[in-house]
Amino acid sequence: MSCLFCKIAGGEIPSKTVYQDEYVYAFEDVNPQAPVHILVIPRKHIATSLEIGDDDNELIGKLYQAANNIAKERGIADRGFRLVMNCNAEAGQTVFHIHLHLLGGRPMQWPPG
Ligand code: 5GP
Ligand code: ZN
Repeated sequence: MSCLFCKIAGGEIPSKTVYQDEYVYAFEDVNPQAPVHILVIPRKHIATSLEIGDDDNELIGKLYQAANNIAKERGIADRGFRLVMNCNAEAGQTVFHIHLHLLGGRPMQWPPG
């Protein structure tokens, strides 16, 4: 198992846990781009959003629900927050295990860079 985020979800590489259950692991991004920057990942290894299959629909819903609950807990739900999943090189994906970036705590620009 060579995937960085599989190792993080498995506890092999330390991270600052925000939330975890049987399906989902959430942790603080090591290089935060906003006051709140949390990564929400499935425990199941899925390399990019292109590899999300029919069997994963429920899992993807759980990712969003976990992110929503964390946003509420961090007090940014009503102010607003951004959920981003980069796919492949031009979008800036650097870790090939899908992750939702939960970003908030400051005004966001649009379009993103
Ligand atoms: P991507 O560029 O693939 O959308 O996002 C990868 C994210 O993972 C980046 O925001 C980066 O800061 C974060 N990251 C990369 N390596 C580590 C790590 O070892 N620990 C943590 N907590 N975050 C990481
Ligand atoms: Zn993985």
